[in-house]
Amino acid sequence: MSRVFNFSAGPAALPEEVLQQAQAEMTDWHGSGMSVMEMSHRGKEFMSIAEKAESDLRELMSIPENYKVLFLQGGASSQFAMIPMNLTRGNSATDYINTGAWSKKAIAEGKNFSDVNVAATTEDSNFSRVPHQDQINLNANAAYVHYTPNETIGGVEFNYIPHTGDVPLVADMSSTILSRPLDVDRFGMIYAGAQKNIGPAGLTLVIIREDLVGDAMPGTPTMFNYKTHVDNDSMYNTPPTYGWYLAGLVFQWLKDKGGLQGMAEINSRKANKLYDAIDTSDFYANPVDPHCRSWMNVPFTLANAELDKTFLEEASAEGLKTLKGHRSVGGMRASIYNAMPEEGIDALVGFMAEFERKYG
Ligand code: PMP
Repeated sequence: MSRVFNFSAGPAALPEEVLQQAQAEMTDWHGSGMSVMEMSHRGKEFMSIAEKAESDLRELMSIPENYKVLFLQGGASSQFAMIPMNLTRGNSATDYINTGAWSKKAIAEGKNFSDVNVAATTEDSNFSRVPHQDQINLNANAAYVHYTPNETIGGVEFNYIPHTGDVPLVADMSSTILSRPLDVDRFGMIYAGAQKNIGPAGLTLVIIREDLVGDAMPGTPTMFNYKTHVDNDSMYNTPPTYGWYLAGLVFQWLKDKGGLQGMAEINSRKANKLYDAIDTSDFYANPVDPHCRSWMNVPFTLANAELDKTFLEEASAEGLKTLKGHRSVGGMRASIYNAMPEEGIDALVGFMAEFERKYG
């Protein structure tokens, strides 16, 4: 069977070239006679894979020397707890910005370990925008500020990095990391579940400024302490080796594609094509303020919700898969991460026009 255009929010499409390379190397990685899955994480073969993945990521994102890169497990959801456990550093006051479903989860977990101040929320607009800088009421004495640059479900994305003075900024970049260049030094910590723009589920990436490591709450479990992973190069226990390897293949693919500047150009073009198709039609709608629309997750509704099922069935028959919106919002959602080729957007836009002609 040929490959489809998979618009899943995550786990999401991976670059076909990466999958083919993984397939070619599946049973015998570089003459080792072993699959990467079968290798000791401490052997020289896997160590070379791990080191190359990290150095390629550092190069792609221009990660400064004073930041550590960790390859962990537990998903972004574990970070919701690890962040307050590690970053409050004797100061229980934390600031969180609420822009939707994933912010809320981070806030709920943050409350288990700290005194959360919701410094801004856009709930009154049903999360159709992000707050302006001057609408964020920061506490200058907070231990950190947490925000979600891209809300995967709502499809709302910050078009700027909030200024937080000397207070470290912590960002859940699960659904936007690697989509464009980023000033890493504006952040205290960046984290992301891998299953959208990095690699397979099971790997969680953490990029943390080294001065923030080493002062976890008393009683923090060993595996939840960043220092454990920093001190052991993410190999305190068995790391998610295959995910780490595949992430490395994705990083190489990104470098071959022109790096993050190259991705930004393609991603902006892809997103604009899709939003234009939505905005120039009375049949499709997207509720998000045009200044805050996500490049990665594009939710949209049909004028007649009774046609949703037909839309999904007919799209699927055309090889346009996993377009159903999140169960909490309904409608459709096209997730168009780095691995979604521009032809996938063209095919979707063409299908949407044809569907509107038939049923609109
Ligand atoms: N944050 C965001 C922005 C997400 O999109 C997701 C997953 N969809 C998560 C956190 C949770 O990630 P995980 O499933 O890796 O715990």
